[in-house]
Amino acid sequence: MRVLITGAAGFLGSHLCERFLHEGAEVVGLDSFITGTPDNIAHLLGHPRFRFMKYDVTNFVYIAGPIDLILHFASPASPKDYLSNPIQTMKVDSIGTLNTLGLARAGGARYVLASTSEVYGDPEVHPQPEDYWGHVNPVGPRSVYDEAKRFAEALVMAYHRVYGLDVRIVRIFNTYGPRMRADDGRVVPTFIVQGLRGEPLTVYGDGTQTRSFCYVDDLIEGVYRLATHDGLAGTILNLGNPQEVMIHAVAHLIKELTGSASPIVFKPLPKDDPRRRQPDISRARTLLGWEPTVPIREGLLKTIRYFQEVLK
Ligand code: UDP
Repeated sequence: MRVLITGAAGFLGSHLCERFLHEGAEVVGLDSFITGTPDNIAHLLGHPRFRFMKYDVTNFVYIAGPIDLILHFASPASPKDYLSNPIQTMKVDSIGTLNTLGLARAGGARYVLASTSEVYGDPEVHPQPEDYWGHVNPVGPRSVYDEAKRFAEALVMAYHRVYGLDVRIVRIFNTYGPRMRADDGRVVPTFIVQGLRGEPLTVYGDGTQTRSFCYVDDLIEGVYRLATHDGLAGTILNLGNPQEVMIHAVAHLIKELTGSASPIVFKPLPKDDPRRRQPDISRARTLLGWEPTVPIREGLLKTIRYFQEVLK
């Protein structure tokens, strides 16, 4: 199998490259390095079945030779990143999706879109099943990401309906683990780095908003199954850990696990910050026999060890 992975030098992309190489696939990785980093794939560069090109998929994409599977994982994904690259985010999720779908169509490849729980916006239905349409502010600051991903989903489904392309959409809920950037602004790396440096842990709002955090290995297992199982064309799937936690509880847990004396301080809540978020993963359980297995303490300890190395 020959696989194209966009966003290959990103957090999830680099883990996917590793997984597909481990399974014996040939992997072509693309990344613009706008938010990805060469460090994430440095250890793969000598691999005989891995080929990497620095490339921005908002430009026309051509890959010589057959491609069986395209995983479109290129996109800023943290609020800090997409708010500081708003136009680029909208381009990669619209034009980048169009270009990679065109490539999939030309070669008859299966196509997997990395979408997001953000398509549900600030959800009024809880937990969120795949058939919930969401509650999104189309003109708010976060719309550059959530509306872009909603457009990408619509485009992918149009290619499925019009050309019969075998497409799958994965709506990824908050995921954490090694190879997130220390400065990507997301809550887990931010709290870990603050804890390890002895700086105050910055809780936004009163910290009663919730998220559900999935360890990266669990997420990658789910994406691998979604991408490789037969008979799933047109599937939309939530992947995430249904264990819901309040953000102030995450701060306390990370403070404890990093052994930090840092205080916990409160900062203003960003605009349109979703109140709560929890995946309904019934469909993933039924279709893939998938559910997360890594408890949050264990996943956080692994992530803390990673950041201890990075910060040395
Ligand atoms: N958050 C926080 N402190 C930080 C960073 C984030 O309290 O230093 C909060 C943020 O307001 C949100 C939650 O943590 O309620 C998760 O934020 P993140 O940026 O990780 O991702 P999101 O789920 O909002 O896309």
